[in-house]
Amino acid sequence: MGARAPFRQARAAAVLGNRPFCPKRPSFFPKKLLIKTKIPEKERGALLGAEPWRAAPLPPAFWGGGHRRGEGPRRPGGPGVRTYNTNAQVPDSAGTATAYLCGVKANEGTVGVSAGVTRDQCNTTKGREVTSILRWAKDGGKSVGIVTTTRVTHATPSAAYAHSANRDWYSDGEMPPDALEGGCKDIARQLVENIPDIEVILGGGRKYMFPKNASDVEYPGEERHRGTRLDRRDLVQAWRDSKDINGVMPPGVMMMGGLAGGRIDHGHHEGKAKQALHEAVELDRAVGLAARLTSPRDTLTVVTADHSHVFTFGGYTPRGNPIFGLAPMQSDVDRKPFTAILYGNGPGYKMVAGERENVSTVDFAHANYQAQAAVPLRQETHGGEDVAVFAKGPMAHLLHGVREQNYIPHAMAYAACIGPNRAHCGGAAAAAAPAPRSLLGGDVEHDLLVAEVAVHRLGARLPVRHVQAAPEPAAGRG
Ligand SMILES: [Zn+2]
Repeated sequence: MGARAPFRQARAAAVLGNRPFCPKRPSFFPKKLLIKTKIPEKERGALLGAEPWRAAPLPPAFWGGGHRRGEGPRRPGGPGVRTYNTNAQVPDSAGTATAYLCGVKANEGTVGVSAGVTRDQCNTTKGREVTSILRWAKDGGKSVGIVTTTRVTHATPSAAYAHSANRDWYSDGEMPPDALEGGCKDIARQLVENIPDIEVILGGGRKYMFPKNASDVEYPGEERHRGTRLDRRDLVQAWRDSKDINGVMPPGVMMMGGLAGGRIDHGHHEGKAKQALHEAVELDRAVGLAARLTSPRDTLTVVTADHSHVFTFGGYTPRGNPIFGLAPMQSDVDRKPFTAILYGNGPGYKMVAGERENVSTVDFAHANYQAQAAVPLRQETHGGEDVAVFAKGPMAHLLHGVREQNYIPHAMAYAACIGPNRAHCGGAAAAAAPAPRSLLGGDVEHDLLVAEVAVHRLGARLPVRHVQAAPEPAAGRG
């Protein structure tokens, strides 16, 4: 073994374990860690299959070590999926949700339509609508649901049921006259009309369902919660009227949604890392609860993100360092301390008397602290890198390696025997096999559950207290 061997080993460990590598301190990583991060080839195959979650390790010490593991399925290796939109290197939620729900890449700002549709141009929509895995599941006789912590008309959930040249056309009150005259429907109306039998819809955004200026049932005195609909319709009543509330749900559940995840994105846009990570913990708990209600023998669970953020964590912090704490050094340029968590851009950019703010003079552990950013922006931006895909359950092995984001729903549909590609679902072997048990007691191929989280670094439980949620940003990117 040559003199350079420890250097090469440490560098290899850094790559395998997704850890920082310091060429000046190649012995930074203890030898024990090198052994742990190297998974034998024959074991990797098992980890990628339908194994219990404990089988596949998290990237070692992803949050600096010393914290408990999260609830999500483990992702043993591959980076995941490429998130770019057809016209954008750094994507938005509309184009990415269309990719991982409808199976085609799309332009930013558009939902449930192909890349032939130009944002804001209603007249480019007709004939270019694409359907989602929610529709495929519904057509396959399954119950379906949408669960989100954002408004249900937000870009991410709306790609499951709507087709719109603009993600912000929540109600007809947000649409320009030419779009209304061109026959385009607002997103809230499409939620009620496009797929009328969605069994479960949980989320916000009620005001887009009620006539303009109608008082909100929960916040009757507040102007900003009043209804927005110009057509004077009450879509909640319309939805109720279309339902047989005593009916029985058909077997099989396909659920998608932010669960707790959509607000992670909002926390990052505000530059409030604690808010964002608190929401990530809530998503983690929701995924854990879903895991306890289902079995990996008959349920494919997929956890992924629509896109990343310019959010980072560094500074050679020691094991056990508080995630919201300081790096154990000062800048060797401005001689000031810095936090381990930082943003590439956003509202956390702060100069005091012509210099970078000294973070030790402020409460950087506060729930609303805005981590320092290199470039000032009112809202922090998304990131353009790949995001992780965590999968477990039947055919979880289909989701490994680096893929395009729009591959995800096709793999899930294949596993669930829904959608157009079902040639593998019949045959003598399939007929002889016992029918998997459904979550709801019926016979189904597989139940499905997909959650999304707007950070790609879903990690361990974090030692954070409950913090007040950031206000939901106005229409726009998200
Ligand atoms: Zn966003």
